[in-house]
Amino acid sequence: MRLEDAMTMQKTRKIQETREKIKAWKINGYSIGFIPTMGYLHEGHQRLIQQSVQENHKTVVSVFVNPTQFASTEDLCEYPKDIEADMALCERAGVDLIFCPNAEEMYVNESCTFIDMDGLTKELCGKSRPTHFRGVCTVVGKLFNIITPNRAYFGEKDAQQLAVIKRMVRDLNMDVEVIGCSIVREADGLAKSSRNVYLNAEERKAALVLNKAVVEGKRLVQSGERNVASIVATMEMIIAAEPLAEIDYIELVDANAIEKITTVSGPVLAAIAVFVGNTRLIDNFICEV
Ligand code: AMP
Repeated sequence: MRLEDAMTMQKTRKIQETREKIKAWKINGYSIGFIPTMGYLHEGHQRLIQQSVQENHKTVVSVFVNPTQFASTEDLCEYPKDIEADMALCERAGVDLIFCPNAEEMYVNESCTFIDMDGLTKELCGKSRPTHFRGVCTVVGKLFNIITPNRAYFGEKDAQQLAVIKRMVRDLNMDVEVIGCSIVREADGLAKSSRNVYLNAEERKAALVLNKAVVEGKRLVQSGERNVASIVATMEMIIAAEPLAEIDYIELVDANAIEKITTVSGPVLAAIAVFVGNTRLIDNFICEV
């Protein structure tokens, strides 16, 4: 970044204003890195931001709790918010623009066009949240159209989402490079998540079973276990030993196609979703094999 371009972070709420700022950067030949988020930012988001700041002239973060990816029974209304803290984190991390639209701005009246995906969305979160990825693809596609980033950064914490976005970009010829970043964890292993704030002290302790199951599953695959049913059974046993935890799913899938497998014979994604109290948490590991 040239010195004369150094300025404090800008904040926009409107699409048109955001486009104008980005157009001005593009005229100057700046590359744009983009991190879509739902806010309540933590070190996981910060890692994506840091990578974008290193790799691009300008970094844009969006904060938008996207209603179309939540089912009516889910936590849309309770989703944690702290825009002041989000702005402070972004500013410290070197973000140039934070885009915080509201739902009316993103979905104009009678918005009726969506991006749906046939493959990759039938298992894992796509199975337990059937409308989720339609909402994710639609909002990310819209955000890509608004921000027109050169690179976009997504966490491997949401491994199925990362695979889905990569496939959408490939299938729809979107001109953006999608970059995956590894999972950032708390010191005791719990994957960082905005939803961790829902956990009380007892649940926070119980939530460690997710990482415990993931670590053991990975150890089994790495030590040569190829039978998926037996890996899943071991992971299930670990979760079942924690009374506050209830399994939503534990599955091993082909890491690229996100389709069920019975034997590990190539890159594998082991993904789990577990309710701890009322909070649904996810974790995973990917093994190249
Ligand atoms: P969210 O705000 O939860 O929608 O997440 C926005 C982006 O941050 C997504 O690409 C997530 O995968 C990523 N992310 C969230 N938590 C983590 C984490 N613990 N480690 C790495 N990336 C994360």
